[in-house]
Amino acid sequence: MSLLDGVPTVLFVHAHPDDETIATGALIAEMAARGIRVSLLTATRGEQGEVVRGPLSVLEGTDALTRERERELACAAAALGIGFADRFWLGTPPARAAGLAPRAYRDSGMTWIRPGLAGPADDIDGDALVRAPLAEVTADVAALIGQLRPALVISYDNGGGYGHPDHVRMHEAALAGSRATGVAFAEVVQVKVDGATSGAGVAGVAGAGAGAGAAEWFDLSAHLATVTAALRCHASQLTVDEGGGHIVHSGGQREPIITAVGLRLL
Ligand SMILES: [Zn+2]
Repeated sequence: MSLLDGVPTVLFVHAHPDDETIATGALIAEMAARGIRVSLLTATRGEQGEVVRGPLSVLEGTDALTRERERELACAAAALGIGFADRFWLGTPPARAAGLAPRAYRDSGMTWIRPGLAGPADDIDGDALVRAPLAEVTADVAALIGQLRPALVISYDNGGGYGHPDHVRMHEAALAGSRATGVAFAEVVQVKVDGATSGAGVAGVAGAGAGAGAAEWFDLSAHLATVTAALRCHASQLTVDEGGGHIVHSGGQREPIITAVGLRLL
């Protein structure tokens, strides 16, 4: 039994353009291959993110960066098999609570507390996602869930994967919105897989967490080419290592391309 058995529709809830591909691109590609209809809700447009050095770096801090990241997300979503009509922005109907005027939530930014763990930025915009009341964000997510009625909602774990405040906030809102609408929720479980760790090693890590709420792991290495193509869409955020298997973020951090993802029902 897989928690994806008999699931016709899934909604992914993410904070920034590129998270859908970096964290869950292989899983989305797998679902598309299984005939599962995937919808994607993205909370912000990654306005605070750094820009990869090169021709696009002139966009940093400008409104044009917002448009570029919207374009990049459209490119990546298409590569992963998500239809145009199945992409949504938080704060824009139908991902907006009834009776409230549409709004944009902005990227809250982050700083590194230590390698691998992010925390709040020093200067947080007034329209930042983390400044918005959790009840408002949850109501917007719930409005979309109520409209789509997916069989399953998927988002970050309660640590936001690596601590980004926007990721943590979207975990909270996606979980609460799922509960409010009676839809199943699963969190993404990720292990930083280094080059020496095989798929068997990943399964072993999952086993270590076995018990109530054990994660189901998916070996998604067959989708590496699809994920790589989607990653290349996010050219203002990252570069793909030509040697294969790694991405390099605009800040210089290297990270393996994720092709094994765990899901845990909460
Ligand atoms: Zn993110």
